Amino acid sequence: MKKVVKFGGSSLANAEQFQKVGNIIRSDESRRFVVPSAPGKRFSGDTKVTDMLYRCYEAAQEGEDFINQLKAIKDRYYEIIRGLNLNLSLEEEFNQIKTDFELQAGREYAASRGEFLNGKIMAAYLGYEFIDAADVIRFHRDGGFDPETTNELLSKRLFRCENAVIPGFYGASADGIVKTFSRGGSDVTGSLVARAIKADMYENWTDVSGFLVTDPRIVKDPVAIESITYRELRELSYMGATVLHEEAIFPVRKEGIPINIRNTNKPEDEGTYIVESTCRKPKYTITGIAGKKGFCSISVEKSLMNNEIGFGRKILQVFEDQGISFEHMPSGIDTMTVYVHQDEFEQKEQQVIAGIHRAVQPDLVEMESDLALIAVVGRGMKSTRGTAGRIFSALAHANVNVKMIDQGSSELNIIIGVEDRDFETAVRAIYDIFVMTQC
Ligand code: ASP
Repeated sequence: MKKVVKFGGSSLANAEQFQKVGNIIRSDESRRFVVPSAPGKRFSGDTKVTDMLYRCYEAAQEGEDFINQLKAIKDRYYEIIRGLNLNLSLEEEFNQIKTDFELQAGREYAASRGEFLNGKIMAAYLGYEFIDAADVIRFHRDGGFDPETTNELLSKRLFRCENAVIPGFYGASADGIVKTFSRGGSDVTGSLVARAIKADMYENWTDVSGFLVTDPRIVKDPVAIESITYRELRELSYMGATVLHEEAIFPVRKEGIPINIRNTNKPEDEGTYIVESTCRKPKYTITGIAGKKGFCSISVEKSLMNNEIGFGRKILQVFEDQGISFEHMPSGIDTMTVYVHQDEFEQKEQQVIAGIHRAVQPDLVEMESDLALIAVVGRGMKSTRGTAGRIFSALAHANVNVKMIDQGSSELNIIIGVEDRDFETAVRAIYDIFVMTQC
C-alpha cells in the first residue's frame, strides 16, 4: 500500500501543527511520500509565508530594503525548527534567497521558497529524503505545465525511493527557471506524485473534516460528504465550492486513484473520499449544494423562433464575438434565455443587444440582473423519485421565487436561478429538506 500525503499551510503553520503531522505520518507506514505547503496562518489575522514572500520580493524589485521582511520570514521557519528541537540550519538557503532576490530571480521563484524551506524542515523532521520539486515537476518556458515530462521525471526519480518529501506548488522549466502553479497549487503537486507512483490513495490533509455539503458561511456546521465522485466534485467546484485546487483531480483521475480529504486537527474523522465511481449510496439523496451570485439573464423572444434553423447558434455567436461565456441557456418555444456573469456582461451590454437585433431580428429582448444560480448535485438523484418536487416545495415554503430551472440530462444536477437576495434562504431551505430530514 502506497499513500501520498499532502499537508496544507494551516497544518504546517507552527511546530505544534508539525507534530500533529508527524504523528499522522508515523501512524501509518504506507504514508511514504509527503507534499508540504508553506506555513499558513497561525491565528486569524496572521499572514501566510507565501504572502510574506510575495511582498518581500516586491520590495526587492522596487529597490527597497527587504532585509527586515526576509528576517521576519526566517523567524517563522526558525520558530518551527526550535519548536521541533531540530538541529537544522537554513543559513545557506537564506543567503542564497537574499542573493537571488537582489538579482531579481522572479516572483514565482520568490513564492516557491515557502514550500522549498518547509520541505527541508519536514524532511529533517521525518528523516525522509528531500527531493527538490524543481528537478521533477516540469513547466514549459512560457509557464504552461508539462504533465507528461513531469510524470516521466517523477516516476523515474521516485521508483526506488522508500520515503521522500517533495515540496508542493512549484517546479521549473528545463533550463531551471522556477515556475509555480496558481495559488493553492500544492494540491496539484500531491496529485502528480500520486499519479507517478501509482499510489493507492492520495490523502489531502487540511483544516476541515472533508468536503462539506454546503458553504458553512450560509449553513452553520454543515455535515461533511462521505463520498463524492469526480464528476460531482467538478459540478460543485465550478459553482464555487472550494476545498481542493481545481486542477488537482485530473492527474489522479487518470489513474483511478481516490482522494481522501482529511482534517489534521481531527485525524480520527474519516473525511471525504473523492472517487471515480462508487456503488456506495450517498447518505442523503443529494451530495452537495453550491452556488454563486451575480448573474444576468438575457431573454430573446421571437414568434416562430422554433422554425428558424440556426437561431440558437446566431445568438450565441453574438456572445462569443464579445468574448462573453454563457453559463446556461434554457429555452421555450418562442423564447431563449442566456445566463451570463454580470460583471463580464455589463460593459458590453449595448453591443450584445445590438448584435442580437442584427443577428435574429427579435420581437423582444429582456434583461434581468442580480440573479444567483444554485447547483444541487447528486448521483443519488437518478434513482430517486421526487427530488425536484422536494426542492421546489422547500423553496416555495421558504418564499423563494424560482426564476429558472435547468436539469442536465445526466440527472447529476439541477440548476436553479433565484434572485440574489434569496440566495442564502434558498440554499438553507434545500439543505434542510435533504439533510435535516435525513433522506
Ligand atoms: N503556498 C501556496 C499558497 O499559499 C500554495 C499552497 O499552499 O498550496 O497558495
